[in-house]
Amino acid sequence: MSYSESNIFAQILRGEIPNETVFEDTEILAFRDIRPQAPIHVLVIPKGEYESFDDFTLEAEPDVVGRFFKKVGEIARQLQIDNEGYRLIANIGKNGGQEVPHFHMHICGGRSLGKMLQS
Ligand code: AMP
Repeated sequence: MSYSESNIFAQILRGEIPNETVFEDTEILAFRDIRPQAPIHVLVIPKGEYESFDDFTLEAEPDVVGRFFKKVGEIARQLQIDNEGYRLIANIGKNGGQEVPHFHMHICGGRSLGKMLQS
């Protein structure tokens, strides 16, 4: 599978669709999820073209991957959910339920999130 430039997060990165940004630098963008599943629900995406976590960890340089995850932690602290705790989610591919084919981490918090998986 190759990266599709028409996906909605690529459109956000090109400024074609508005977003509620909470953090941005040269490598990443973090913005509020449009259909929040928790009081705090932020998506963090790399600006590079990676369709999934699998693609990102396979293709991106280790320092890029490392900086990405350091930033995810920083953003959670900026959102002030680090003390109470929060959940990180990456949905990957068909079985993972990934809807948008641009790698993203969900940061969810602001309430107790219960069990990890519901079957
Ligand atoms: P996933 O199922 O992991 O691919 O999650 C995709 C997420 O993107 C969902 O939680 C959607 O609510 C969110 N989403 C879709 N379109 C937008 C948008 N335009 N702005 C912010 N979040 C979006």
